Formats: sequence, structure tokens, C-alpha cells
Amino acid sequence: MSVALGIPVRRRDPGERPDTTGRPETDALVDRFGRTAHDLRISITEKCSLRCTYCMPEEGLPSIPKDELLTPAEIARLVGIAARDLGVREVRFTGGEPLTRGDVVEIVALAHAAAPGIPLAMTTNAIGLDRLAAPLRDAGLTRVNISLDTLDREHFAELTRRDRLPRVLDGIDAAHAAGLARPLKINAVAMRATVDDAPALLAWCLEHDAQLRFIEQMPLDADEAWRREHMVTAAELLAALRTRFELTPVGRDDPSAPAEEWRVDGGPATVGIIASVTRNFCAACDRTRLTAQGTVRSCLFGDDETDLRHLLRSGASDAGIADRWRAAMWGKQAGHGIDAADFARPVRSMGAIGG
Ligand code: SAM
Ligand code: SF4
Repeated sequence: MSVALGIPVRRRDPGERPDTTGRPETDALVDRFGRTAHDLRISITEKCSLRCTYCMPEEGLPSIPKDELLTPAEIARLVGIAARDLGVREVRFTGGEPLTRGDVVEIVALAHAAAPGIPLAMTTNAIGLDRLAAPLRDAGLTRVNISLDTLDREHFAELTRRDRLPRVLDGIDAAHAAGLARPLKINAVAMRATVDDAPALLAWCLEHDAQLRFIEQMPLDADEAWRREHMVTAAELLAALRTRFELTPVGRDDPSAPAEEWRVDGGPATVGIIASVTRNFCAACDRTRLTAQGTVRSCLFGDDETDLRHLLRSGASDAGIADRWRAAMWGKQAGHGIDAADFARPVRSMGAIGG
């Protein structure tokens, strides 16, 4: 066990190799449940310009010591290994808020150079994109997904503990202008305080040609306030949207796509709902994650992490790092188990993992 962000995480000893009994001979990132990871999420910071109640504590997360953060060159090396040796087809930078990291443009530029053919995306709250959208595009970023839960300024300020909605809207404009948001994709967490704002958010997205996806809130808030009986379910959200729109189910084209789509007022526009809790898609999960400190975390809900930073800094070869990453994936758990009687929340909250 080691202490990360002031909290204990079960982290393997750097020398300890995860058990790979039964693993087939393949370069790909496969696990014991027949899944293959193609989608890499990399958290690059624990810092954030907002304090969303479903994610961060009011005071923010404890700072990661600088020497524990992966450097841009280290991130790029891991992106190269993932793309070249492990079959990763898409990389997404996240956090915390990736735009708060001063060297974010360098990170994207080096990752792009290490894996030129791989789409590089970013999930962001858009604060700072007014300044960074064009440099990030020039560095090789392909697109951004923007998180925005409500267009009601007061509700936004309550939910995020910061009165910064205008800055988010400026960021969205800049992403559009830079060509990073074609189409514009908006993610919204379905929360009790904002569920009545959902129809207005959908109307705004339809006007702005944006694809909106709602996400059920998962028990990943640092404050540990999440309760199954209080969360807004996909069914409840659909009912709220249906007060204003006619919705018809389209289903899930790609089985590993987490969102189920609904046609709005006969189409062609759709709205997505990611029912991570009530209809989980763990069986089709194709993700592998790296934390900002360079540990592989195969599942949001699995505290069992494998340290690659130590390998990077102790002269390991690319092949050795790839091998340890494969071993970590082999140990991935079957699913989040939120509904199981013995469900235990992960130690890290969303902002400390990277959503
Ligand atoms: N700061 C960036 C942002 O907000 O887009 C990137 C990091 S954030 C952790 C990534 C995504 O996770 C966001 O879309 C956010 O809404 C979502 N998220 C955070 N906490 C969540 C929770 N408890 N349940 C579901 N989604 C959550
Ligand atoms: Fe920050 Fe994103 Fe977490 Fe909100 S969801 S607190 S913007 S990291």
C-alpha cells in the first residue's frame, strides 16, 4: 500500500509483476473477461479550475509532488508504446482539468510526435480554451469533449462552487473556431440540483449543433455524498427531457460505446445517456487508464494500480514497460459492482483518477 494524494491506494511494489497465469500470447491489452483495450485515458493533473460537487472536495485535491508527476516526455513515451506495441487506437487527456497544466501544449505536441497516426482528444471544462484552443490544435490535438451540466448561471456556480459559466461559454466558442469541436460534444452529469435544467441544455445543444450526452453520477465524489437512492437515474432524466421533447430510442450502434442514443423530435438530432450505474457497460469496456503519477489503472473502480513511472525512471526498455502494462490489464476486474452487497467505493475520487 502507498499514499497518493494523501490517500492510501493499493499499489503494487514496483518490482512486483501482476499474476498473468492463463494470459494468451498476444501483444494486445487483453483481460480475463475477453475484453481488449483500445482506448487510453491519461490524467495529466489533479488540479482543477472548478470544484464540481460530484468530483472534487471544496478545497481541491492535495497536490501531487512535482517529481511524482509524469513529464511531457514520459507521457509521450507511454503514448508511443501504447500505440505501437499495445494496439491503442485513441488517446484522451483528462484530469483534474488538463488545461491547468502549464505544459499541456508540449504534452500534446510530444504525444503527437510519438504516435502521429493516433487521434488525440481531451475532456475539459473549457476554462482556458479561449487562449489554448488554437495552440492545442496546432500541437496535434484532434478534438475536445466539453463538460457542462447546466446553463443556469446560479445552478452552475452552486454545482461547481465557482461562478465561471461565462468562461466555459467563451471556451466553447474558441474550440469551435479552432475546429476542435466539430461536432461539439457536451457531457453533463445528471444531478438532482440541475435535472430540471436538462431540457434547456438539450435545446441549447440542438441550436448549437452540439451532441449532448448525460452521464449518471457514479460514486466517485471526494465528499462521499453519493447515495444510490438519491441519484438521478437515466429513467428519471428521460422523463425530465420528455416534458419538452419527443424521444425515440436508437440503441447503441457500437457495443463498446457507453451512450445509448435517443432521437429527438423525430431526428436527425440525438441525445445520449450513459447509464453507468443502472445499465452498466462494463462487459464491453475497452479502456485502459494512466494516472498523472504514471500508474496503470485498468478500471475506474479498481484501486489495484501498477506503477510504470518507476519503470520509466529506472531504465526499463519499451518492451519491458509494454509487458508490465499487459500484465496489469490481465488483472482488470469484471465490473464496477456498484449494486453488489459488498461494494466498496474506490479510494481515489474521479478527479484523482481521470474521468
Ligand atoms: N476536468 C475535466 C472535465 O470536467 O471535463 C476532465 C476531468 S473530469 C473528471 C472528466 C469527466 O468526468 C467529466 O465529464 C465529468 O463530468 C465526469 N465526472 C466527474 N465526476 C463524476 C461522477 N462522480 N460521476 C460521473 N461522471 C463524473
Ligand atoms: Fe474539475 Fe472536471 Fe472534476 Fe469538475 S469534473 S471538478 S471540472 S476535474
